[in-house]
Amino acid sequence: MSAIDDLATELSKLPGIGRKTALRLTYHLLKQQPEQTRRLAQTLQTLSEKVRTCERCFNLTEDEVCAICRDPRRDQSVLCVVEEPADIGAIERAGEFKGVYHVLGGRLAPLDGVGPDDLTMDALVGRVTKGVVREVIVATNPSVEGEATAVLIQRELSPSSVPVTRIARGLPIGGDLEYADGASIAQALSARRAM
Ligand SMILES: [Zn+2]
Repeated sequence: MSAIDDLATELSKLPGIGRKTALRLTYHLLKQQPEQTRRLAQTLQTLSEKVRTCERCFNLTEDEVCAICRDPRRDQSVLCVVEEPADIGAIERAGEFKGVYHVLGGRLAPLDGVGPDDLTMDALVGRVTKGVVREVIVATNPSVEGEATAVLIQRELSPSSVPVTRIARGLPIGGDLEYADGASIAQALSARRAM
């Protein structure tokens, strides 16, 4: 295997990048200044070395606890459960939510072999049963898997008697929270209902 093939193979593992695009990117990198390519390599290495998950909420961070969890102005009693760290970015851009988050690390997808144990469900139950949380807002995506995940969360948290709410269906069905606009997210959050 040549270096060109190796890189094209790695790039084609990225979402939205096919073999053809991967090769095009590889040749582009070969054409640019070596210094620029080295900088890209360095950035990638720093990324994988420095970025990790928050001990509390599983958001991505360069510290033990992320900036949102550390922020004293955030309401620790309202917990918004999302599938991926990127969803936090989308909700934060909407600017309405003042509570804290919990990242599941995915959604239930039995066909892809993703079960409850592959998500941070135990940690979520642990956080809620500690007694600080007054409301859990489930903001999993409005897809079949997202809904099944919401039902699982509701079931797992029912012994705690903490109210569990679900964001409204203001978002396009099957559409990812990550790509929704701020106004739709704010609307979906404020129109949440009890599960
Ligand atoms: Zn955090």
